[in-house]
Amino acid sequence: MKIAIRMDDITPDMDWAKFDRFKALLDKYDVKPLIGVVPDNKDEKLSIDPKREDFWQYVKELQEKGWIVAMHGLNHLYTTKKAGLFPIGGKSEFAGLPLMKQDEMIRQGKGILEENGIFTDIFMAPSHSFDKHTLTALKNNGFCVITDGFGITPFKCHGMTFYPIAVKRSDSISDTRDGLVTFVYHANTMDDKDFQKLGELLDMGIVVSYSEFSKGYVEERGFVGEARQYILAKAKYTAMQVRKLRG
Ligand SMILES: [Zn+2]
Repeated sequence: MKIAIRMDDITPDMDWAKFDRFKALLDKYDVKPLIGVVPDNKDEKLSIDPKREDFWQYVKELQEKGWIVAMHGLNHLYTTKKAGLFPIGGKSEFAGLPLMKQDEMIRQGKGILEENGIFTDIFMAPSHSFDKHTLTALKNNGFCVITDGFGITPFKCHGMTFYPIAVKRSDSISDTRDGLVTFVYHANTMDDKDFQKLGELLDMGIVVSYSEFSKGYVEERGFVGEARQYILAKAKYTAMQVRKLRG
């Protein structure tokens, strides 16, 4: 199994020391990730450093170097407790809202990115949460790829292409099948041990650039495959909640 890297919560005021530390590791192995940029962040938890003034210019430079950019929500605020179609989180910025509202939010986010010279057709839902209306709104606004779902190869569902994320990292690392999955990272909250683990992963030689997803085979996924994924996602969420309760 090959591994691609996705970095969530990219904002002008993120923890830049951690971002730079992450980037230095990726650069060492010439790996280019997917970065989820929040168009207009209002989530205080993601605000750590003073805003970097040349943020958009910098994102553009990264994109020119082969980093892939996704739109990560609009404000990164959780307005509903709906888990949506891929229920590994219990909250959402989008799921549960009327189509008109979601369409407006997605159009607004895309507009902000484009005003700043960033063009993308990839969407990264905060807390992995989206519903059927989100998918319609995304399609209306020219998005065709979502970084979410379980699988070992890109798949098509509801008229969108999904680039899957790993269910369990250790299982993906030891999986000998031919495939590609995403490991999700939030550099803002990483500690020394997390960085060490990332270094070890990169050292294994199984990490590839995110752009590899666009080269592979795309599976058509029907109702059964989707139902299986829903059950797996729900189980993963339940297992996480149980772990939290046990401390
Ligand atoms: Zn996020």
